[in-house]
Amino acid sequence: AHLARIEAVDEKVHAFLHVDREGALAQARAVDAKRAAGEKLGPLAGVPLALKDIFTTEGIPTTVGSKILEGWIPPYDATVTKRLKDADVVILGKTNMDEFAMGSSTENSAYGPTGNPWDLTRIPGGSGGGSSAALAAFEAPLAIGTDTGGSIRQPAAVTGTVGVKPTYGGVSRYGMVAFSSSLDQGGPCARTVLDAALLHEAIAGHDPLDSTSIDAPVPPVVEAARNGSVAGMRVGVVKQFRGEGYQAGVVQRFDESVELLRKLGATVVELDCPSFDLALSAYYLIAPSECSSNLARFDAMRYGLRVGDDGTRSAEEVTAITREEGFGDEVKRRVILGTYALSSGYYDAYYGSAQKVRTLITRDFERAFEEVDVIVSPTTPTTAFPIGERADDPMAMYLADLCTIPTNLAGNAAMSLPCGLAPEDGLPVGLQIIAPAMKDDRLYKVGAAVE
Ligand code: GLN
Repeated sequence: AHLARIEAVDEKVHAFLHVDREGALAQARAVDAKRAAGEKLGPLAGVPLALKDIFTTEGIPTTVGSKILEGWIPPYDATVTKRLKDADVVILGKTNMDEFAMGSSTENSAYGPTGNPWDLTRIPGGSGGGSSAALAAFEAPLAIGTDTGGSIRQPAAVTGTVGVKPTYGGVSRYGMVAFSSSLDQGGPCARTVLDAALLHEAIAGHDPLDSTSIDAPVPPVVEAARNGSVAGMRVGVVKQFRGEGYQAGVVQRFDESVELLRKLGATVVELDCPSFDLALSAYYLIAPSECSSNLARFDAMRYGLRVGDDGTRSAEEVTAITREEGFGDEVKRRVILGTYALSSGYYDAYYGSAQKVRTLITRDFERAFEEVDVIVSPTTPTTAFPIGERADDPMAMYLADLCTIPTNLAGNAAMSLPCGLAPEDGLPVGLQIIAPAMKDDRLYKVGAAVE
């Protein structure tokens, strides 16, 4: 049924870069056979899923939304891919994304934009717009995203779906193409809080193949999602998460959510986190710095695209020509920015200062979580904007992640879930819930209560 749905609508939505029809049917049949034979089935047996095209999939193309990896067929599965297969999930295909996960609209994909199923002329968010659009268009009931600065939560918010950025280190990064390694985190996308929890549990947990993976039990997310409650909880509202640039309807729905939390028995506490105002600036030094290092491996020599190798040119020339052709504008912008920020003489002023800001943000969170159990905010300052509106204005585009970035810098956990439609445009608004590191279960407890 989901393959038929994809066939019917994906020409318009363009959530998928690759649909693995044969593979999905084979996986589904294998589940049927196991069931018929009375064998033990995985926890998500037979449930179809849309996988962001940033996770390697053995034998299936993985492009990261970039021309530089066009035609590359990975010889191995990412840990997330492997765990999905172990859970007997049926992987439908790979979803569209901003190139190398750099963007907030999926317009930076080298393979064309994805439409927001609520209004196809608007963006589905980014970088994981394909995964969230697939959910909103009922092309898949589950999806996987990655969140470096908001790429799971922001698309979830603007498509009226649920997305969770787990605690950094909670889900393995092995086989997840690196953008900014100290921030990147894979996580679940779904249409309900409980669905997200079931998927979270299937992919999370220690992985010896990822040196930053946390060696501790997975927080009890499913149990929390089944027992939603905020009674007696302290919920923080940060004063830095409102003001200029926030759409009136977004603020209205957010204020109503806070009222609802109060009615359900939570105590609401006002918080001041002054360093959050610097988060965007710090992020746009740290993320490009790390990406300039991570993307050095795309040199036309090891794998992926190779252009201009006619036997007369040096390796350096072929690398340069291939990168010129294979990388898009935003990727080039970030590599240049990051290389500059890391260069000797500028390191302390830029990268060094950004790391100090990062520490201040972590401390603001630590102080806040002495007073509250969770923090809530709008996920994004505005609803889905029209395709093309911010395409030539990187600064305006970067603002889409104003509320999501502090969490990545501190490494704690956050969820976005729908909290109604903005009255002025009828488009979905996202409520963000933030919890301390390794307290991911709190997101689900609160999320399930207000869903
Ligand atoms: N939009 C942010 C960026 O462009 C976040 C992307 C992400 O989380 N991958 O970097």
